[in-house]
Amino acid sequence: MKTPAISAIQRKLTDWYVENRRDLPWRKTRDPYRIWVSEVMLQQTQVQTVIPYFNNFVTAYPDVASLARADLQSVLKSWEGMGYYARARNLHRAARRLHAETHGRVPSNWADFRALPGVGDYIAAAVLSIAFDKPYAVVDGNVKRVLARLSVVDAPVNQSGSMTVFRKMAESLLDRAHPGTFNQAVMELGALVCTPRSPSCKTCPLTAYCRAFLSGRVDAYPKKEKRKPVPQYHIAAGVVEKNRRLLITRRSPDVMLGGLWEFPGGKVRRGETAEAACVREIREEVNLAVAVESHLTRVRHAYSHFKIILDVFRCRYLSGRVRRRGPVAHRWVSYRQLDRYPFPGANRKFLHLLKE
Ligand code: SF4
Repeated sequence: MKTPAISAIQRKLTDWYVENRRDLPWRKTRDPYRIWVSEVMLQQTQVQTVIPYFNNFVTAYPDVASLARADLQSVLKSWEGMGYYARARNLHRAARRLHAETHGRVPSNWADFRALPGVGDYIAAAVLSIAFDKPYAVVDGNVKRVLARLSVVDAPVNQSGSMTVFRKMAESLLDRAHPGTFNQAVMELGALVCTPRSPSCKTCPLTAYCRAFLSGRVDAYPKKEKRKPVPQYHIAAGVVEKNRRLLITRRSPDVMLGGLWEFPGGKVRRGETAEAACVREIREEVNLAVAVESHLTRVRHAYSHFKIILDVFRCRYLSGRVRRRGPVAHRWVSYRQLDRYPFPGANRKFLHLLKE
């Protein structure tokens, strides 16, 4: 049974959302496919970055069938720059499965939708509640922060063990009559008002119910567990040129950044120079003998669990035929053709130097 406080929180939040919500492209539709695409993109990427990607993606692939028919490389190219490419690969695989099994219909029940590649609890709850009004509560970073402050929760928001606590709270607060609107209202409050730093409590509709605010401890919540510093790797890569063409290789589909293209290279070993690592890696990876001609640039790039320092060298082809381990492709491409291929962020940081 709903308590009066829960009813009041639901009403205040929903009223606030109707008045204050941002006008975003995926909010103009109830099409489950488009809502799904937006939620997948929004999982790791900021709203403002997502907007143009979303618009371009649903123009290129307006429904499950068109995404299923597209080749993976084109899909990765539309995703290029947004990172976390497993999202795109999974979305593509899920579209192919739906196209084959349900004529492209997005399932409206938890078991079938949750079983699709890349669909976790968050995506399932978000899409099913927003597109189909199913009573599932979403729990993302914004929701956890709002709940932690509202009820002064001491469980750290960045610890996986805390998820049960926040999920139970989100479920007990959910407005089951309007789950989609309610879920979006909590997330929007977290994004616009109950922000990580300096929340705008003065404009918040929940001040009368927020225990952190009422006890003057807003800054103490949410609690976070200290993370270990992320490791940093030194990588060397070579731009090998032969007859005005450059060698690029495609990463295996089942690894991080799978399906993307890159310049061959790898980790610099202890006691090894970056130049020597570049020559060795190219020999081991693609069976070519090359000579380093010059240092093109040094790039720094951060992924979610590690950082890299990438030294890039211009290399001259000496001898050998490309031979790769496993079913991985390679191409010799002209400078102009580079734009056709999807590259990871660290490679994209120096592509402009090659075109100049
Ligand atoms: Fe967040 Fe402040 Fe609102 Fe509490 S009163 S929910 S801390 S914005």
